[in-house]
Amino acid sequence: MPAITAAPTDPTAADAAHEALMDALERQQPVLLTQDHRAADGRPGRFWGTRPIGMAEMQAAADRFTRFRPVLQRLFPELQASGGVIESPLQPVPALQRQLGLDAAHGALFVKADHGLPVAGSIKARGGLHEVLEFAERLARQLGLVSGSDLSPLAGAAAHRAFADYQVAVGSTGNLGLSIGVIASALGFRAVVHMSADAKEWKKQRLRRRGVTVVEHAGDYAAAVAAGRREAEANPRAHFVDDEDSLSLFLGYSAAALHLREQLAAAGRPVDAAHPLFVYIPCGVGGAPGGIAFGLALLFGPHVHCFFAEPTASPCFLLALQRDDGHVPSVYELGLDNRTEADGLAVPRASERAVQVVRPSLGGVFTVADDTLFRHLARARQAEGLRIEPSAAAGFDGPGRLLHTAEGQRYLQRHRLTAQMPQATHVVWTTGGLFVPDEEYERFLARGLRLG
Ligand SMILES: *Cc1c(COP(=O)(O)O)cnc(C)c1O
Repeated sequence: MPAITAAPTDPTAADAAHEALMDALERQQPVLLTQDHRAADGRPGRFWGTRPIGMAEMQAAADRFTRFRPVLQRLFPELQASGGVIESPLQPVPALQRQLGLDAAHGALFVKADHGLPVAGSIKARGGLHEVLEFAERLARQLGLVSGSDLSPLAGAAAHRAFADYQVAVGSTGNLGLSIGVIASALGFRAVVHMSADAKEWKKQRLRRRGVTVVEHAGDYAAAVAAGRREAEANPRAHFVDDEDSLSLFLGYSAAALHLREQLAAAGRPVDAAHPLFVYIPCGVGGAPGGIAFGLALLFGPHVHCFFAEPTASPCFLLALQRDDGHVPSVYELGLDNRTEADGLAVPRASERAVQVVRPSLGGVFTVADDTLFRHLARARQAEGLRIEPSAAAGFDGPGRLLHTAEGQRYLQRHRLTAQMPQATHVVWTTGGLFVPDEEYERFLARGLRLG
C-alpha cells in the first residue's frame, strides 16, 4: 500500500505523494490517507453551510429522541421492551480482535452494533428517524396537535388523520429509503420513496407492505430524484429529505456520540490523553460518519481519532478531502465506476457540508476492496455471530491499517500515540444488516467463506 500524507512539508514531495495517491485510487488499490493538518485541539468545524452548530444542537437532537420515546414505543411493537429507545449495544469482540491480528499491546476492540438498530435495521435509523420526527414535531405544534413536551398524541388517530394531508419524500435505493419510509408512514404521513428500477426487490416490498409509495425510475435515476425533489419543494405540504444537504439528518447521527460516551464509561474505557479512542465508520455521502465524528470530537477533542472507510470504487469523501478549493469532485471524474456490493456506500459525490464540518478533526480515510468486505463479513459471523451487510464490514479493516502499515504508524507517531496503544479503545461501527433477507445474507456469507 502506498504511504500517502495529505500535506508533507516539502512541496515537491507533496506533489509526488498526491500523484501516487491519485494513481492508486484510479487503479482501485486500497489506500490510507491520514490528515497531517488535523487541528491540535481536535475541534470539528462549527458551521453547517452558514449555520453555527455545536454541543447545543447535538443535545437538542438527543432530547428529541427522548421526547419521542412514548410515541415510538406505541408505534413499533419491537420498541416495547426498550421503552422507545433506538440504540445499539457496544460489545467487546475478543475473538474477532485476535483474528484481525490485534493483541493486548494494541488496545481493546469493540463493535458499535448499529447493524441491529430497530425499525430501520441500519445506522439510518438515527438520521432518518430524527429528520422525520423533527418535521412531525414542528408540524404538530403548528397544527395545535400537541403542546409542551408531551408528544404522546402523535401516536393517536387524530394526529394520523391530520398528517395524512402531508407528504414525506426521499430519493434512495437503500437504507435511507427504508428508514424514512417506515417512520413517515407509521406517523401517518403519505410516504414516497423514489428508487432506481434496479433497487433490491425486497426493499421495495418491505416498503409497500407498510403503505409506502415506491416510485421506480428507469433511466437517469439522479434526474428523476431531482424531479421528485422539485415537485416536493413546490408543494407546501411536502417535506423532502435531502441526503447530501440535511442538517437534521446530520444532527440525528451526532446524538450517537452522547450515547457512546455513556457506554464507554460503563465499559470502563476512559478516553483521555493516556487512553486514546479510535473509531472506524463506513462512509457514503458522509452524513452518518460525519455526524458521529462531529459529536465525538465535541465530546473528546484531541483524544478521539475517527477514520472513515470507503469502497475502492467510491472513495468520494477521500477525494473531497484532497481538495481545498471548495470543489467536491465525483468519483466518475477519476474514471471510477462507483460499482460496489457495498450499496450503502456506493455514492459518487460526498456531502460538501459534511466535508466542511469534519475536515478539521478527522484522522483519515481508507478504502477497502469488495473482496475484503466479504472476508470481514464472514469473519464477523464466525468469530462473534454478527450478521452484517457488506457496507457494514468496511470498518473492520481500520485497526489493521492504522497499526500494521507505515502510513498508520506515521499517524500514531505524529500524534505521539505509540506509547498509549495498550490502553487504546478501538470501536468498529457496524452500520447495517438486520433486515437483509436470509437468502441474500447466505450468499454474502458463502462468498466471504470462499475467499477465506
Ligand atoms: C448510509 C449508510 C452508511 C453511510 O452513511 P452516509 O451518510 O451515506 O455516509 C454506512 N453504512 C450503511 C449500511 C449505510 O446504509
